[in-house]
Amino acid sequence: MTIVDESHALCGWMWQSRDMAARDGDGWIQCQCGSKHWGKFGAAGILIFRDSADGKREIFLQHRAPWVHNGDTWGIPGGARDSHETVTEAALREAFEETGIKSEHLKPLALFSDDHGDWRYDTVLASAAPEMSADSPNDESQEMRWVAVNEVTLLGLHPSFAKTWSDLRQVLNNLVAPL
Ligand SMILES: [Zn+2]
Repeated sequence: MTIVDESHALCGWMWQSRDMAARDGDGWIQCQCGSKHWGKFGAAGILIFRDSADGKREIFLQHRAPWVHNGDTWGIPGGARDSHETVTEAALREAFEETGIKSEHLKPLALFSDDHGDWRYDTVLASAAPEMSADSPNDESQEMRWVAVNEVTLLGLHPSFAKTWSDLRQVLNNLVAPL
C-alpha cells in the first residue's frame, strides 16, 4: 500500500504556457571550451528523482531518438533557454514539451551549473510527486524510464550528461525527498 501525500505537489510552482513565437534561445554558440553548444542564452535541463518503495533512489531518463544531435543516447529532458525565462521556467517547460510531465508534479530543490564562461548548462534537480506521469513523449524521445542511481552509468549516456553525472549525483545524494 502506498500512502500518497499531495501536500508537496501543490506548493505553488506554476508554469504558464506562452506563445511559441517568444522562443528566441534556439541557436548555436561557439564556446571558448572549443565546442559548439545549443542555446544562445545557455541551456537548462531537469533531473527528476524519486525514492522507490524499497528506498532506492531513481532518476528519470529519456532515450533520445537516433536522428537528434547526439542521438540514441540517454539523458535528461532539457534544451535552449529563452532570454526572458528563468532557469527553472526553462527546465519545467522542456520537461513538459518533451515528456508531458506537468510542472505541478515536480518540486525543484537544487540547481547545478556547468559554467563554461561563454555558455552554461543549468540542471534543476526536482523531486517527483507520486502521481507524476510522462504520457506524451514528443518525437525526440524513443523511450523514457526510471533508472536506479547506481545503474545510470550502465546506459549509453549523452556526452554532456555523462560528464556532469558524478557532480549531479553528489548534489542528489544530499537532497532529501519531501514527503
Ligand atoms: Zn563550452
